[in-house]
Amino acid sequence: MPAIMPWVIGNWKMNPETPTAQQQLTQQLIDHIAEHLASGAALVNLNLAVAPTLLHLLTVQQQLQQAKSAVQVIAQDVSRFAGTGAYTGDVSAQLLANAGIGMTLIGHSERRSLYGEDATVLREKLQAAINAGLKVVFCVGETLTEREAGQAEQVVLQQLDEVFDCIDLQHWQQNLMVAYEPVWAIGTGKTASPQDAESMHAAIRAGLKNYHSSLVDLPILYGGSVKPDNAASLAACANINGALVGGASLDADSFIKIARAFSQDRKAG
Ligand code: PEP
Repeated sequence: MPAIMPWVIGNWKMNPETPTAQQQLTQQLIDHIAEHLASGAALVNLNLAVAPTLLHLLTVQQQLQQAKSAVQVIAQDVSRFAGTGAYTGDVSAQLLANAGIGMTLIGHSERRSLYGEDATVLREKLQAAINAGLKVVFCVGETLTEREAGQAEQVVLQQLDEVFDCIDLQHWQQNLMVAYEPVWAIGTGKTASPQDAESMHAAIRAGLKNYHSSLVDLPILYGGSVKPDNAASLAACANINGALVGGASLDADSFIKIARAFSQDRKAG
């Protein structure tokens, strides 16, 4: 399996509260990265991204670009409807792409549980995103009840299976990443043990390989209460290629510490 460049993505969800706070958080991110570079501890062989609210996507992007930051800006979600039209409240993949946003999350557990997004909706969103040229982080994960019933792996593989055939293999190869986020670990402070996370990531990778051998090197990120103090043990797992970080991404210092854990330069500083 070729080396997979890890991704560390901050999901800011519906935070922070004001435009000024968004700007400050972005600036802190820029400053922390600069401090790391100045101390010789570069963040190398690592993709970094943040997902602000829709309201702030472009201002955060502009601020990062002005600072010549390599941090990418991605959307937290996308409309199931394509193009333009009478879809009050929605933003389509085409509008995101036209505004220079190249990637989106799809299938986050909060979208599944709070907005009732089922496989039909997620298939439409995936198709809309891919047709507009966006890259996608597709999120999967089991609930606590499902895990306790011994169904975690089955549920997660089923979530992939439900959407697999809605886009071409070529797009899976080039434009998809998977994020494994056990629902019981999101925002709860409980993290899957590195062994449990690694075991699920290995199962996801085997599932992808079953679809086609070329999918064996798709990045598979872990999400669920990733913090600076557990990031290194997760990063050490062979099948974990990065992190999707919620709460801890709202603190630039914590976020960059997590990024360091996944940076291949981490032993240097
Ligand atoms: C998330 O919402 O994707 C997430 C992983 O949140 P947290 O890190 O806060 O658990």
